[in-house]
Amino acid sequence: MSTQAEQATNGAPILTARGLIKSYGKSEALCGASVDLRAGEILAVTGASGSGKSTLLHCLAGIVRPDEGSVSYGHEQLDRLPEERLSELRRTEFGVVFQFGQLIPELPVIDNVALPLLLAGTARSDAHARADEWLERFGVRGQAALRPGELSGGQAQRAALARALVTGPRIVFADEPTGALDSLGGEQVMTALAHAARETHTAVVLITHDAQVAAYADREVRLHDGAVQESSALPQEVSHDH
Ligand code: ADP
Ligand code: MG
Repeated sequence: MSTQAEQATNGAPILTARGLIKSYGKSEALCGASVDLRAGEILAVTGASGSGKSTLLHCLAGIVRPDEGSVSYGHEQLDRLPEERLSELRRTEFGVVFQFGQLIPELPVIDNVALPLLLAGTARSDAHARADEWLERFGVRGQAALRPGELSGGQAQRAALARALVTGPRIVFADEPTGALDSLGGEQVMTALAHAARETHTAVVLITHDAQVAAYADREVRLHDGAVQESSALPQEVSHDH
């Protein structure tokens, strides 16, 4: 019997990008990048600063439209979808976490985490109950009533992960989620993310330039000057089965 992590890397792709090209003026951020993401896998995207990692993530998540190339999610081609459907996908099927969590500073943590559910029409009491559950899973339930400015960097990132996962997305896109943290904080955030992703069979696209962070992934795709230089399965040193 294969492990959960092996199954994750052998399954059918749920997100497929082919030949992505995206320029900003004269600067070519992506020049023909192709990548597959399989259901439930954690895929690390690595590469030097400026190699196109964030642009790739934005194209995969339907935040940025590529100039050329395609991004297929199930039967839908993200690069051709109307803005309305893209924002619906981002509300329901995708979760996003950035380097600096981007929590709303005026709102208590619990409201930040409940927000995606409220936007999707979930009743307030139900949204709060689910937000509370996710804060508990990420070990920041005690901070629920605080404002984001009162949290440590690691706590803020764990709250941001709770917000990204609260809707039960199929894919979480994380752009250097540990980039602003010290190594202990980064490790706690990665352990929490990897554990939650395994448990809920959520696929993760994880941008990082930290080899220790990439080690949490099943597979690594390395970008160089806007194209995929190398794709490799990572050795599974720790069992992901719990
Ligand atoms: P990485 O995340 O690997 O550091 P990015 O995808 O952010 O790389 O950037 C790739 C290239 O595209 C860089 O040269 C960057 O300056 C350029 N770029 C990215 N986003 C923009 C933007 N919104 N406007 C102008 N140039 C951009
Ligand atoms: Mg970046």
